[in-house]
Amino acid sequence: MQSQPKIALITGGSRGIGAATARALAAQGYYLCINYRGNHDAATELQQELLQVTEKVVIKQADIAVESQVVELFEFIDRELGTITALVNNAGILRQQCRLQDLTAERIDQILKTNVTGSFICAREAVKRMSTALGGQGGAIVNVSSAASYTGAPNEYVDYAASKGAMDSMTKGLSLEVAAEGIRVNSVRPGCIYTQMHADGGEAGRVDRLAPLIPMQRGGKPLEVANAIAWLLSDEASYATGTFIDLAGGR
Ligand code: NAP
Repeated sequence: MQSQPKIALITGGSRGIGAATARALAAQGYYLCINYRGNHDAATELQQELLQVTEKVVIKQADIAVESQVVELFEFIDRELGTITALVNNAGILRQQCRLQDLTAERIDQILKTNVTGSFICAREAVKRMSTALGGQGGAIVNVSSAASYTGAPNEYVDYAASKGAMDSMTKGLSLEVAAEGIRVNSVRPGCIYTQMHADGGEAGRVDRLAPLIPMQRGGKPLEVANAIAWLLSDEASYATGTFIDLAGGR
């Protein structure tokens, strides 16, 4: 008998680390839902690429900061792919580098709404479907945190760092809540990875500037993060929950 395909949602899966993760999971035959916020063309292009590799790939626009859109996203997956078995809580944002003294409440709220509330609500919807205590078949969640959660990102984005600290607490707490319900919850904490995110912070060349300060003397590639995410989701990581893999070149 053929085994059931694994079904994964990657939030913010259209670019950067999310897209690299989509490629890694497609190579393993996952059915995929790639969520994105605004860049429809990037999501469509990736979907076409991955349909050469795995059988089912759907894309869905949804702002994870908006609860009703997250609920719709999960209902879309129920209809189009079946019951989710893997969630990659990857979508995350930062804003222009600045010191804490220059932060506004509006900015802090936006960061927390996306990175923290959005990840929590996605995890909630996944747990409702995966938990064996609720009639589900189990599953795995990987939260994409950041080395910023332990460096604090001074002079750049302490708000972003704090949002990742909150995600780390969620990884720990949720992993314990659902450990006996067939769900593993783990995290990766990337350092400086070559993606467009740094341009959003106002410094497109940030990774190259910081590379000499990284013990391994270089920035990371999205695939180097994606491989760890794919492992944490896989059956090879079957006894790992509540753990963090730091992918920061030694930082
Ligand atoms: P990226 O290249 O900027 O891509 C961000 C992705 O998230 C895009 O697909 C974007 O969609 C989507 N997105 C943004 N806001 C969203 C929202 N509200 N709802 C749904 N999707 C949303 O980012 P990245 O560098 O790959 O980062 C991915 C994750 O890794 C983030 O959580 C980030 O904090 C973390 N991380 C990155 C680094 C790094 O150095 N790059 C280091 C540590 C941690 P659109 O394109 O449609 O807007």
